[in-house]
Amino acid sequence: MDKNLLQTAQNYKAPNDLLKGKNILVTGAGDGIGWQAALSFAKHGATILLLGRTVEKLEAIYDKIESEGYPQAAILELDLKSSNYDDYQNIHDGIEREFGKLDGLLHNASLLSDMRPIAHSKPQDWLDVMQVNANAPYLLTKALLPLLEAANNASVIFTSSSVGRKGRAYWGAYSVSKFATEGLMQVLADELDATSNIRVNSLNPGRTNTRMRRSAYPAEDPNKNPLAIAHMPVYLYLMGDDSLDVNGQQIDVQSH
Ligand code: NDP
Repeated sequence: MDKNLLQTAQNYKAPNDLLKGKNILVTGAGDGIGWQAALSFAKHGATILLLGRTVEKLEAIYDKIESEGYPQAAILELDLKSSNYDDYQNIHDGIEREFGKLDGLLHNASLLSDMRPIAHSKPQDWLDVMQVNANAPYLLTKALLPLLEAANNASVIFTSSSVGRKGRAYWGAYSVSKFATEGLMQVLADELDATSNIRVNSLNPGRTNTRMRRSAYPAEDPNKNPLAIAHMPVYLYLMGDDSLDVNGQQIDVQSH
């Protein structure tokens, strides 16, 4: 990874209106890092399309955005596990009707599933994790590409993990799905580099105090891990127009 790029991103001070006029879709916006990213993007002027499977959680972040006086958000209820391509096409059609373009797409939702050796893994768990973490981001990106093309300088961010860079025992399908995520990011970034103004990168947030981390490391003191808000300079940098020349990069949010 380019150290200068990382430092620029980590030290980034986003202007208040960085994302003004932009429409940004965040998956898994009802909890954890996605919740925080949705709030931070809205704070910087974006209209957020809140995608997730638990409508009460989406309503809660919607209300929070509203109560802060940020641009009114929209809710897209979708379970990525059971969705099919028609669902993504419907999302495309709705955004096209309502907004005409999409400036940002944060693929954040993920499923961890049980931590087990491959020998004891459950085939259905494997398929579910690959569906939510790898297939759904592909399907959503493919469906939304025309709307990303319609924006001036769209940014697509995939969420990776350190086990998506080097495999680790017991992380099973989650680890493999994150390798797939990196592969999709690289293929797409290379394809779009010469042909569009869309940039595509991946972020590894690193250990963060969320439900997912707590379930992966139940014996750990969760307060030792940073809150998602600490990562927002990097998320904002990649989503806003100060990173227009950044494409095809894998960024470890917490590397120094
Ligand atoms: P959380 O478990 O807190 O949040 C995950 C989000 O994904 C939730 O909003 C959840 O919705 C949503 N989601 C899960 N399954 C589905 C589904 N089938 N359909 C729609 N939405 C779904 O996790 P984090 O915030 O920690 O993780 C965010 C991203 O960061 C993930 O990609 C994760 O892999 C990555 N990451 C996290 C790290 C950490 O330490 N926390 C470290 C490295 C990477 P609901 O709330 O309704 O279940």
